Amino acid sequence: MEKHSVHAYELFIDGKWTGKDMEQIDVINPATNELLATVPKGGGKEAKAAVDAASAAFPEWSKKTAEQRSDLLKKWHQLIDEEKESLGKMMTKEQGKPLKEAIGEVDYANGFVAWYAEEAKRVYGETIPASHPNKRIFVQKQPVGVVAAITPWNFPAAMITRKIAPALATGCTVVLKPATQTPITAYKLVELAEKAGIPRGVINIITGSSSKIGKTWSDDERVRKVTFTGSTEVGKLLMRDAADTMKKISLELGGHAPLIVMEDADLDKAVEGIVASKFRNAGQTCVCTNRVYVQASVEKAVLEKLGTAVRKLRVGNGLEEGIDIGPLIDYPAIEKVEAHVQDAVEKGGYVTQGGDNLRAGHGYYYQPTVIANATDSMLCMNEETFGPVVPVASFENEEEAIKRANNTPFGLAAYVFTESISEAIRISEALEYGIIGLNDGSPSTPQAPFGGFKESGLGREGGPQGIEEFLETKYISLAF
Ligand code: NAP
Repeated sequence: MEKHSVHAYELFIDGKWTGKDMEQIDVINPATNELLATVPKGGGKEAKAAVDAASAAFPEWSKKTAEQRSDLLKKWHQLIDEEKESLGKMMTKEQGKPLKEAIGEVDYANGFVAWYAEEAKRVYGETIPASHPNKRIFVQKQPVGVVAAITPWNFPAAMITRKIAPALATGCTVVLKPATQTPITAYKLVELAEKAGIPRGVINIITGSSSKIGKTWSDDERVRKVTFTGSTEVGKLLMRDAADTMKKISLELGGHAPLIVMEDADLDKAVEGIVASKFRNAGQTCVCTNRVYVQASVEKAVLEKLGTAVRKLRVGNGLEEGIDIGPLIDYPAIEKVEAHVQDAVEKGGYVTQGGDNLRAGHGYYYQPTVIANATDSMLCMNEETFGPVVPVASFENEEEAIKRANNTPFGLAAYVFTESISEAIRISEALEYGIIGLNDGSPSTPQAPFGGFKESGLGREGGPQGIEEFLETKYISLAF
């Protein structure tokens, strides 16, 4: 499609849409390679202007009552709900996930807006008994200030609301940079926030050079908090950069989720869990099962059931009816998956299902793939595959399963399938992960504190814990 015939989005800074005349970046549909839209290529100047606006808006926004902020978030929630079909369609076009998943993500994303509209009213303080009779100690929670939010392409809506909703609820103002590959959903969400009446300067969104924007925000002492979701590599860089001005920081980073199937598990439930946690978003989620460990006595049965379930999955353009797996985000993603499968085969793995890309079409498709006889030296057992490939290894006993599952620098999500309550408790408590799906392949929800151990990140998003990340604690010692 010709550039002039697609929509050119603009930056949103201080309540004004701007940047039509700037250099533009193409946004491509990964299912068809079609040009969908263009967005401005902002840099340091625009990043600074966004902080100027967020900083100017902070005093008034933070002085609003919690109830006033809550009402505006509820209005935003209502507008997102009314637009969920069109938002879902746009997300499928720019990101590739099947439409039913995209609409499901809009609901999930909007769940954070609803949850934090309520939590805004529960930012409680404390009084602590003082050690002197003529003193009182009052503890207050206050918004941290201007928040810089940087988000990835795999959840174009939820990673934004999971940050912005709690930030706004506390009285913080926000500068946002969505992923370059999926900016349209972000712009649409901000348009709806504007329509909901969220005042100018409270949310500012810019697209463009991630390194220039990130560095400008890191160096600016007015930015008091950085909240990032993305790769561990960029997370570490942002953490180093945040040190100079001692910003608060939360990082939701990469994972390498193990899924353990014990011999007494309900095997149908376990296979359902593998499919849900592995193939959602074509395997491109940070909590995706990356490696499956099955107790040796049930390995054959699990592989058979898994083969049957995976054969039913339909790959194609996510806008078509009945599609379970859309395209991967781009060609490097296909290359990474191919490298993992080839490495596994070279090291003795058997591809029992799939194992090929689908070059016949235009998009970046890869078949849902099962690899039996997986071993811990394979790339796919150590690095995020970020594609629809499930390696299955076997183990003899509980101790071995826990040890192998924990043998990674990551610690985001892990899954356990067992019908034994004592095994369930022992294994869940021994796993060094922030999220455990116990007989549950889809544990993410707005009410729960999502986040990782070790190199999977710092801080939590969602639940009552998620709002704490945007608050400072102050105590007032009163002598009389
Ligand atoms: P990424 O390359 O780290 O990018 C994430 C965001 O950071 C994008 O907006 C990107 O901008 C920006 N960025 C890149 N380099 C930057 C820099 N030098 N300074 C500031 N910002 C910079 O990650 P990705 O490939 O988009 O996402 C996949 C990763 O995210 C996976 O590892 C996945 O596990 C992780 N993830 C984690 C969670 C979680 O909650 N733990 C959730 C989803 C995804 P551009 O798009 O312009 O490059």
